[in-house]
Amino acid sequence: MHIPFVDIQQQYQNIKQEIDAAIASVIAETAFIGGKYVQEFEQTFAKLHGVKHCISCANGTDALYIIMKMLCIGHGDEVITVANSWISSSETISQTGATPVFIDCDANYYSINENLIEAKITIKTKAILPVHLQGQMCNMDVIIALAKKHQLHIVEDCAQSHLSEYGGQLAGTFGIASAFSFYPGKNLGAYGDAGCILTNDDALAEKCRMYARHGALIKHQHKIEGINSRMDGLQAAILLAKLPHLSKWTEQRIANAEYYSQALSGIKEIVMPVVRPNTKHTFHLYVTRCKQRDALKAYLKDKGVETAIHYPTPLALLPAYQYLQYQPTDISICNQYQHQILSLPIYPELTNEQMDYIAATIKTFYE
Ligand SMILES: *Cc1c(COP(=O)(O)O)cnc(C)c1O
Repeated sequence: MHIPFVDIQQQYQNIKQEIDAAIASVIAETAFIGGKYVQEFEQTFAKLHGVKHCISCANGTDALYIIMKMLCIGHGDEVITVANSWISSSETISQTGATPVFIDCDANYYSINENLIEAKITIKTKAILPVHLQGQMCNMDVIIALAKKHQLHIVEDCAQSHLSEYGGQLAGTFGIASAFSFYPGKNLGAYGDAGCILTNDDALAEKCRMYARHGALIKHQHKIEGINSRMDGLQAAILLAKLPHLSKWTEQRIANAEYYSQALSGIKEIVMPVVRPNTKHTFHLYVTRCKQRDALKAYLKDKGVETAIHYPTPLALLPAYQYLQYQPTDISICNQYQHQILSLPIYPELTNEQMDYIAATIKTFYE
C-alpha cells in the first residue's frame, strides 16, 4: 500500500468537473489578474468569516508582511511569536525591520505558551503574532487580555487554521488582522500560490490593499510605493470552486483524527494530539510524538507510508536566527520535541483502511 502525505490528486479527481469548469471560465474571460473571480472570492471569504474586508494577495507570507508593514511595525520594534512554526511567521517580522521574539510552545497543544508571553513584553513590543499551528487554536483569552493590557496588536497567522474555532468564534476574527495561506497543501489550497488578509479595520484594509497593488488603489495614482502581491484569477476561481467543500473536508479531517485515536490507542510509544478545550481543531496536521522517531519514520516509508516533520528545527535555533543567540534552554519544549514529533497523513480523502494500515505498521515497528 502506498499512502502519500497529502493527496491533492485524489481531491482533484473528486471535484474535477467543477475545477475544470472554473479554470475554463477564467481563460474564456481572460480574467487573469483582478476581475470578477478575485472580487467574488474576497467577498465570499469575508462573508464566511463575518468580517468587513478580505484583501487577496499572492501568498500567506505576503499577507503577514503586508499587515505588519501597514501597521507601521518596523526598525526598533519587536513582535512576539512562537518558536515552533514555519519561517513565514518570523521572516515577515524581520522583513519589516522589526525583531522576532520567540516563545516556547505549549507542551500539550504545540501552539505558543501563553503563560510565557508577558515576561517577554518590552517597551519595543508592538504586536503578538499567534500561529494557530496544525489547526489548533492558541489561547486567545489570555492573548487578547495581554494585548489590551499592553496595547499591542494581534496579528493572527491562520495559514494552518481555516475554519478552526475558539469558543465558537472562527480563527482570523480575533486580531486587528489575520493572514491566510492557500498554498496547495493547506486545508483550502489553490493550484499555485495564493493568500489573503482579513480585517474589520477600514483604514488598515485600505492601506493593505493599496500597498499590495503598487501603492495605488486607482491605476497610476500611486500614493505610496508598494509591492506587487496579487491573487491570480485562476487561483480565485479554483478557491471559489473548492470553498463549498471546505466544511465537509474539515469534518472529515476531524473524523480521521478521531479514527486515529482508536486505531493508535494501546501503542504506548505514541503520544497523540490533544485538542484544547472549547475549541475546534481542524487538523491541518496530525502531529504525534513518538519513541525512536527517525527509525519509525524510515520504517513507515519503507512500508509505503509518507510522513513529515513539522518542524525539524525550531525557528529560534535555525542558522537564520543565530544572530539572536537563542539557547536550546530558552525554548526547551520545542527543543525537546523536535526529535520526537512525527506528522501522520490526515487529509480528508484518507480511508479508514489506510489508517488501519498505518496503525498496524506502527504497532509492528514497536513489536
Ligand atoms: C504555509 C504557512 C505560511 C505561509 O504561507 P505561503 O502561502 O506559503 O506563503 C505562513 N505561516 C504558516 C504557519 C504556514 O504554515
